[in-house]
Amino acid sequence: MEQKSTTAVKYIFVTGGVTSSLGKGIISASLAKLLQARGYSVTIQKLDPYINVDPGTLNPYEHGECFVTNDGAETDLDLGHYERFLNVPTSQSNNVTTGSIYQTVINKEREGAYLGKTVQVIPHITDEIKRRVKLLGETGQFDIVITEIGGTVGDIESLPYIEAVRQMKWELGSSCAVIHLTLLPYLNVTGELKTKPTQHSVKTLLEYGIQPDILVCRSEKPISMEIRRKLALFCNVNVNAVIESIDATTIYDVPLLMLKEQLDKVVLNKLKLPGKQEPDMENWKAFLGKLKNPTSEIKIGLVGKYIELKDAYKSINEALIHAGVSNETSVNVRWIHSEKLDKENVEAKLEGLHGILVAPGFGDRGIEGKIEAIKYARENKIPFLGICLGMQCAVIEYSRNVLGLTGAHSTEMNPKTKYPVIDIMENQKKITRKGGTMRLGEYACTLQKNSKSFQAYGKQKIAERHRHRFEFNNKFLKKFEESGMIPVGINPDNNLVEIVELKNHPWFIGVQFHPEYKSTVENPHPLFVKFVKAAGEYSKQK
Ligand code: GLN
Repeated sequence: MEQKSTTAVKYIFVTGGVTSSLGKGIISASLAKLLQARGYSVTIQKLDPYINVDPGTLNPYEHGECFVTNDGAETDLDLGHYERFLNVPTSQSNNVTTGSIYQTVINKEREGAYLGKTVQVIPHITDEIKRRVKLLGETGQFDIVITEIGGTVGDIESLPYIEAVRQMKWELGSSCAVIHLTLLPYLNVTGELKTKPTQHSVKTLLEYGIQPDILVCRSEKPISMEIRRKLALFCNVNVNAVIESIDATTIYDVPLLMLKEQLDKVVLNKLKLPGKQEPDMENWKAFLGKLKNPTSEIKIGLVGKYIELKDAYKSINEALIHAGVSNETSVNVRWIHSEKLDKENVEAKLEGLHGILVAPGFGDRGIEGKIEAIKYARENKIPFLGICLGMQCAVIEYSRNVLGLTGAHSTEMNPKTKYPVIDIMENQKKITRKGGTMRLGEYACTLQKNSKSFQAYGKQKIAERHRHRFEFNNKFLKKFEESGMIPVGINPDNNLVEIVELKNHPWFIGVQFHPEYKSTVENPHPLFVKFVKAAGEYSKQK
């Protein structure tokens, strides 16, 4: 990658006001997309205010899916949006938590780095925050770093981050811009958009010493010129820096909505950067055109145990959307709770599906439902994709129902099983600490040439991201191979089985890794593309 001068790096901060869940991640990713489409090299970083060192130990019910980077960081799901929009991988440096900031500072204190001094939030914690923000700028890879501050302005937890932004804004002058994302609630009774909550949240920011440069206002209705002028007047911003962000039908509309509002231009002006060229969004528009005009529809069943919270399967859902676009079909996802699935109701619950995807996960809950779903897909020759635990369940199902290994299981669920077809990895056995100790990040895999996986990727050497402790037990390898469940993807360095396929099935693939993390708008993941294609073919036979 071309090296950039680090002194000229520009920093944009995105704060949130009024309520959470306004979509700072999507706004940041959309702005980054527009700047990238003008020829700038951009990255996005998320600062999370919680005290966990990373989200790897969090239950998905807390903050949704845990996203994994190539370099093996367990991160916030917003990094998934950044990658899907920008088509540029993120890294450990792109997600910072309060826990990791404090951990660094406390470790340094123990090493004697501050000997004699009282260690305080200002300057020690804020200095560490600033160091983490600048780290990305110092890689020399980026012209612009966008930093999204988790939480809502006024939260006690995010105060040190806001203070660090204040300091950086002072230090950087015109090399820094602050965007405040806020909400204009609509009052049905009077038929008005209200500006007061935004005024208050900007006042809170001002109390902390930060004057936002740009207001991005989420709203259900278009924002009139009158309201824009009012906000500009009360919040000390230019009227053209009041940006409307109206509810969109898909997150992939947001970059174009921001383009229409000229968010990119306002930001470049503020940062004193040239416009370079009009954003080249042709490919993006072509993607949207296909997304909105599908020529067919398929139904995919997503079997998992966090079904109540769709965010728990964010990357899988998005990867299915990308694959749908590439097949010009709409993918209708039926969410199926694995805990509520059993022998008796499996047929009724899975009937009419054109493809079945069994999701990743940890622990015993819902495991038998997943196994039932896989049996149904295998016997009825319905296209199947099993991801991580989904692949492990496919192996367990096959052992029990085809190889006749009664009671076969993963030692994660049953440490005493007679047939541990999935077992803990050798180098995991002595690990007792939970955080960041799984097999994480990108590993190589070599594909067998006469496999469906090879057909999908179109090459033999691939690398995919992992997040697990258990693996296919190679002691059973021969048995599987001989009977038709073929290990077609192997890690060349340690012989771990990464992909299994069924011989006598139109499309049945289980992968130990997570292909969903690598699917982007520009590069839909080949396994998802072929899975959706197979589902389309299956739907035509029906
Ligand atoms: N629980 C399984 C393991 O640790 C699978 C993990 C996953 O699905 N990400 O190996």
